[in-house]
Amino acid sequence: MKTNTICVQGGYTPGNGEPRQIPIIQSTTFKYSTSEDMGKLFDLEAEGYFYTRLQNPTNDMVAAKIAQLEGGTAAMLTSSGQAANFFALFNICECGDHIVSSSSIYGGTFNLISVTMKRMGIDVTFVAPTATEEEINAAFRPNTKAVFGETIANPALTVLDIEKFAKCAHAHGVPLIVDNTFATPVGCRPFEWGADIVTHSTTKYMDGHGAAVGGAIVDSGNFDWMAHADKYPGLTTPDESYHGVTYAERFGKEGAFITKCTVQLMRDLGSIQSPQNAFLLNLGLESLHVRMKRHCENGQAVAEYLNKHPKVAYVNYCGLPEDPYHELAKKYLPNGSCGVVSFGLAGGREAASIFMKNLKLAAIETHVADARTCCLNPASSTHRQMTDEQLKEAGVPAELIRMSVGIEDAADLIADIEQALAAC
Ligand SMILES: *Cc1c(COP(=O)(O)O)cnc(C)c1O
Repeated sequence: MKTNTICVQGGYTPGNGEPRQIPIIQSTTFKYSTSEDMGKLFDLEAEGYFYTRLQNPTNDMVAAKIAQLEGGTAAMLTSSGQAANFFALFNICECGDHIVSSSSIYGGTFNLISVTMKRMGIDVTFVAPTATEEEINAAFRPNTKAVFGETIANPALTVLDIEKFAKCAHAHGVPLIVDNTFATPVGCRPFEWGADIVTHSTTKYMDGHGAAVGGAIVDSGNFDWMAHADKYPGLTTPDESYHGVTYAERFGKEGAFITKCTVQLMRDLGSIQSPQNAFLLNLGLESLHVRMKRHCENGQAVAEYLNKHPKVAYVNYCGLPEDPYHELAKKYLPNGSCGVVSFGLAGGREAASIFMKNLKLAAIETHVADARTCCLNPASSTHRQMTDEQLKEAGVPAELIRMSVGIEDAADLIADIEQALAAC
């Protein structure tokens, strides 16, 4: 099936007389006839459900659709994108280990890796997304267990050279984890370029309607844990909490990562997505391919309009030919990038404030990737405690506006921007 068809029909094929839409299995637990039947589940000898903290049929149907969309072998849902990135990393990193990460990543993930995971004894070296192979290779240590980056970074809108990062990761015997939230599998399938694990904040385009916070982790099934057994003892040596099962042996490279992540991390940390939210996420996925096309068209139209406007100092959007990431975008995102555009007003902080105040259709929100256009001036909201100098250093200068272009009519959006710019 092609991507467009998987969006609509993937993950669930009803049998005769069964519900057409995926059922919401709103049940914490599942009934068995004998203790022996249930015992097999606890020994990981049989497949089945017993408690929704570990697995739920609704969630599994939606995870299966996302696995198909990404071209992976297994997937799981999490309660948020933050949980997805934490679980994906913590599944293969422990105290004393080290991560190499692109420095151009979501602020929440930056904090997760550089503060919270550091407190757990997991160290990180950040490299610029534009780093050469030599520079990336120099960041590795003997205890490096993963490389991390975002296909299109939020909010910097840099494009990751996935092949380059995958090559460096594999040269050191570690997997590349790519957060594919902004591109979605409609725009880019990182596994085709060598990524091993993909994560998502499904809160963004996948849900797309500002309805449900969620996350997902997908395994390509390509990384050979047994070939690097000394690095990944959690996958390649017996887990005593499951009667000595060795995940990489029992479930192969296609299933080991997601199985361990589910039966160990979900069991112990419990960041599940509710079946209700999984159902809402699936509704979003059904139109993802149609919405992404419009988000990209509208994003391009808004970026081109802003780029020609005399009151706009600069525009960051990889769909513009002069953007520094345009060449990478042509390679990795041939069908368009996303709807998020960032730009700076020539009038600085004050002009940004006037512009935002005068917008009528575009709402001021911290959210992105919603069907409705929204925008944010970090200097006057999320980063308001910083001085102009600090803002510049952090890559969010005072005049910067991040606009998440929705799926309304582009002419209405441009008219709204035009009248707000006239007031500046
Ligand atoms: C929003 C976002 C996250 C965090 O996801 P939540 O669902 O808000 O927890 C992670 N990565 C990227 C790229 C994001 O945009």
